[in-house]
Amino acid sequence: MIQIKCDCNERYGIEINTYKLFEEIKSFFEEQVKNEIFKDIPVTEPFYVGYSEVKKENIKWYATKWYKCNSCGCLWEFNYADFPAKGFVKKYENGKYTLESL
Ligand SMILES: [Zn+2]
Repeated sequence: MIQIKCDCNERYGIEINTYKLFEEIKSFFEEQVKNEIFKDIPVTEPFYVGYSEVKKENIKWYATKWYKCNSCGCLWEFNYADFPAKGFVKKYENGKYTLESL
């Protein structure tokens, strides 16, 4: 039995503001999934809930990806950058998702 080792402790959530960084992070996550360290799981909660004055309706924004760490159980939220819109990575250490109030 091989113990899966992750390096979540050394990684943090960040804002993705360059295309190069986006590509690096995207391939990092894909690599982790291939190595069965992370699991690609369905995104079930929006990271932003608000009201659009223009559309006169409630809006919910969902991240592109959620990854669950098979080793430490932490949850990673990854929203792809779509420049000029920046992307982000957020970390939920106990694996529990909490909606940030903006
Ligand atoms: Zn981990």
